[in-house]
Amino acid sequence: MPDSREHTASYYAATRTPDTEYPQLTGELHCDVAIVGAGFTGVSAALHLVERGYAVALIEANRIGWGASGRNGGQLIGGFVNVDKIGKRFGVAAADMARQMGIESRDILVQRVRKYSIDCDLKFGFLDVALRDRDMRDFEDYLADKQQANYAHEMRIVSQSELPGYLGTDYYIGGLADFGNGHLHPLNLCIGEARAAHELGAKVFEQTRVTRIQHGKNPVVITESGRVQASKVVLAGNAYLGNTEPRIRNRIIPAGSYIIATEPLSDSLARELLPADMAYCEQTVGLNYFRLSPDKRMLFGGMCNYSGRDPKSITASLRPKMLKIFPQLKDTRIDYEWGGRIAISVNRIPQFGRIEGNTYYAQGYSGHGVAPTHLAGKMLADAVAGDSEQFDMFSKVRHWWLPGGKWFANPALALGMMYYRLKERL
Ligand SMILES: Cc1cc2nc3c(=O)[nH]c(=O)nc-3n(C[C@H](O)[C@H](O)[C@H](O)COP(=O)(O)OP(=O)(O)OC[C@H]3O[C@@H](n4cnc5c(N)ncnc54)[C@H](O)[C@@H]3O)c2cc1C
Repeated sequence: MPDSREHTASYYAATRTPDTEYPQLTGELHCDVAIVGAGFTGVSAALHLVERGYAVALIEANRIGWGASGRNGGQLIGGFVNVDKIGKRFGVAAADMARQMGIESRDILVQRVRKYSIDCDLKFGFLDVALRDRDMRDFEDYLADKQQANYAHEMRIVSQSELPGYLGTDYYIGGLADFGNGHLHPLNLCIGEARAAHELGAKVFEQTRVTRIQHGKNPVVITESGRVQASKVVLAGNAYLGNTEPRIRNRIIPAGSYIIATEPLSDSLARELLPADMAYCEQTVGLNYFRLSPDKRMLFGGMCNYSGRDPKSITASLRPKMLKIFPQLKDTRIDYEWGGRIAISVNRIPQFGRIEGNTYYAQGYSGHGVAPTHLAGKMLADAVAGDSEQFDMFSKVRHWWLPGGKWFANPALALGMMYYRLKERL
């Protein structure tokens, strides 16, 4: 994937509105908080901070939403972490808090869309689909847990005989429908939230890479063409942060994830394949997920590549997977293919922490970040403002440190993922 400073050639980039053209940072700037990276994490943090009156500089190396935030499947999934894991490590109260945070992450996003009138094609309705009896048992347990926690949205088990109302394929054996989750145009959401932050006073810069941070009582964020002196710094570069802060780089593995978009389908074919127009997602590690765009293209994502090397042809890799589920698409043209980097943390729990007291970071959403990044932005803003209950709980979670930098980390992860895939097949 060539690293251009403009958007990758995705369906989202082709339909982005409006286009952004914030200035490059030149010279010297003073502010309260400098934020590095304008994906959902950075933009969400910026918006939360300007709403509270902080002077913020949001600094993006490329374009707003250029990274995973502007390239993802657009599947809106509430939930923050595996609540069981948090419960085992920190007890029942912490598990309850994590459960609430899952709901909060989705609610923040939906409130943002409504409050700032962001046109991002938000639609409700999400179907987790089952390939195995085990998936259905997991769905039943999950539903019972949600009902016990008084989940505010309708959820229901979808049996195999009910599936035709949701999906035009016999590939799956059932599902779990959640009408609180859904799907959206992620790049337009990110652009809309950045616009809201800008209108509230955030200074926004594009095509301005941060090369280094000079830590100290008043840290200085050094860019290619200028400097920002701030009281606090937020690092929101996730899988793209690279060497900007080497101390957090080896805690995550940047993995590749890919999507194809077909030509627009006829109304009748779109209705036949996805009659409920929901977002759909499998349960396996290298999961397939799909949905319709407003102009009725099938957006199909699936592969996750842990080797650090992109496939020669994304379409050649993904199209056969799509045709296995929807053979009806065998004569349908593929108009777009693209990929992006997700940051995987080995235990799949997002990572929060502080460096040198006044630099905060959040990263490692492990492929599930559209909603969680919105809560992460709030947690970062809370921590900057001195209220760090949620932030501190997560910063205490022990994360593996992967020795040997990127050369070692990706083969190690590839092996780990092979193990999990094998376990799923057995
Ligand atoms: C193909 C794909 C499909 C996905 N599908 C889904 C999905 O359907 N649902 C879901 O919940 N999640 C999904 N995800 C994951 C989700 O998109 C991410 O978890 C989330 O967008 C992470 O947001 P972020 O802001 O932390 O990082 P990013 O969006 O990657 O943003 C980081 C930004 O920081 C900038 N940056 C980095 N270093 C610097 C620097 N030194 N100076 C200035 N700027 C810098 C980058 O240019 C980039 O714009 C998917 C991801 C991919 C790649």
